Order: sequence, then structure tokens, then C-alpha cells
Amino acid sequence: MRKIILLFILFFSNHSYAEINVFSCEPEWTSLLTELVKTNVKVYTATTAKQDPHHIQARPSLIAKMRRADLIVCTGAGLEAGWLPVLLRRSANANVQQDMPGHFMAADYVQLLDKPAKLDRAAGDIHATGNPHIHTEPGNIRKIAISLAKRLGVIYPDNKHTFDKNLKIFLERWDKATVDWNKRSIKLNNMPVVTQHQGWRYLTNWLKLNEIAQLEPKPGIPPSTSHLMSVVTKLNNTPSRAILRAAYQSDKAANWLHNKTNVPIVILPYTVGGSEKAKDLFSLFDETLNLLEQVIHE
Ligand SMILES: [Zn+2]
Repeated sequence: MRKIILLFILFFSNHSYAEINVFSCEPEWTSLLTELVKTNVKVYTATTAKQDPHHIQARPSLIAKMRRADLIVCTGAGLEAGWLPVLLRRSANANVQQDMPGHFMAADYVQLLDKPAKLDRAAGDIHATGNPHIHTEPGNIRKIAISLAKRLGVIYPDNKHTFDKNLKIFLERWDKATVDWNKRSIKLNNMPVVTQHQGWRYLTNWLKLNEIAQLEPKPGIPPSTSHLMSVVTKLNNTPSRAILRAAYQSDKAANWLHNKTNVPIVILPYTVGGSEKAKDLFSLFDETLNLLEQVIHE
């Protein structure tokens, strides 16, 4: 009798706790996971759209969440270099360590831009191995969705069929949306812009925006007055239509440049949650294009 009760408990506890338990480093991957898993998913997101993903504190609460995760989904390519290694070490969760199936780095599935010929961190460049802001291009999201669905199937083989089905639905919607975004992008081609940080390389590459200057002298190095003065000189020769700033970035340097040059500032959501309208990956791109189109119509 006791054996039967025990089996009964095991059967039901297995079912009620067969949750998908994922640790996501950034909101864009949480959004993608939600599309692929749909129900019964517990995703903890380490950062919000109002935080710089390069600079997060490896808080004990993050360590505790990683300890319990079956899978971690992060960007990689050095984006989380300042905090992810600490979380991995301190969480001591064998399932999510590098080279384990529970360790998914999105950047492994796309082609990195700004890849240096020679690795050099001496200048304090936080993009030393290539540009990690990969989610700002729909084609990258597509590739990562396919690889992530496959990985979810490895971690939770019982749900593989559901992930495959959800991936198919997602890709159909995504491809349709991408056709629309691509059509809209034509009007934006060659638009000269200044960016705060090299966080839009995939977006500007996709939309063929003309990125003429950055407010940071090097990725991760705060704007200095002398560098900003050189940007003003550049803008005098090549006028820019907009200063692009992510919702999480300080407004100081962008405001300074705006006051000097009168070039409008466009605050882009950057990721899901970066503005009220950017509620998922679809509305993130819709909203980003809307904001850029407004510059043209001004
Ligand atoms: Zn960066």
C-alpha cells in the first residue's frame, strides 16, 4: 500500500512540477522562449530593458535563480563577460556550465559583426570579440529561434513535439512580419545617424542606415568632451538626421550633442520592455521602425 501511495505521489508530483525552468540573461530571449514554450514555463530574466546588459551586478538572488535552472539562455560574445562567469561559478549548477546542453549562447548561431582581426582588450573595448548586440536584426532572431527550439527539445525531450510546433507557428508569423519590415526599411536606407554606443550595428546594417559617429569614443568608454567636439565637427560636414539612444542609456551626452547641433534624439526601446509599446519581439521591431520613420516624416 505504501508503495502504491509513493508511486501515486511521484506520478502527480512529476506532472505538477514538470515545469520548464530557464534562466534568461536578457528580455529578448525571455520573449523568444515564451514564443517557443508557450505554457508551463518559468523563465527568470536577469536584466530589464532599463539596464545596460554589459554591466550587471552578480547579486546573490541571481546566483540562486541560476542554481535552480535547467537551461540558461544568454547572448554570449562577451556581452555578459562582467557578470555571467561569476554567476556560473557561484551557482555551481553543473547542468548549465559551458559545453553542457543547459548552456545556450545565442551569439553562437549568428555571424558576428565587428569581429577584430586580432583580439585586443588593452583599450578597454567591451566588444573585443565582436559586436554582441545581435538581437537588433530580425534575421538573427530567426536563426536563434531555430537553434533554441532544438536545444529545448534536448533538455525536455517529452515536450519536443510542442517546441517544434510552436517554432513553426513563430517562424510563419516572423517571416511575414520580416517581409513587412524589409519593405518599410527601404525608405530608411542611407539615413545618417549618430549612435550612443555601438549597440545598433545589426540594426543599422540591416536597415542600411549610415552610422556616421558614436558618442562613445570606443564601446564602453564614456563620451569625453574632446570626443564629443570631434563628433560636432563631423556633423558639421555630414549632417545627421537623428541621435539614436537606447532606453537604458544615460541621456547626458545625447542631450549635449542635441543642444549643440539641434539633431533630434530618438530613444529606441532596444529590447522588449524598453518602451510601453515594445511588449514582445514583434512589437519591439514595429516600434523601432515606427520611431525611425517618424524622423523621416519630420
Ligand atoms: Zn555593447
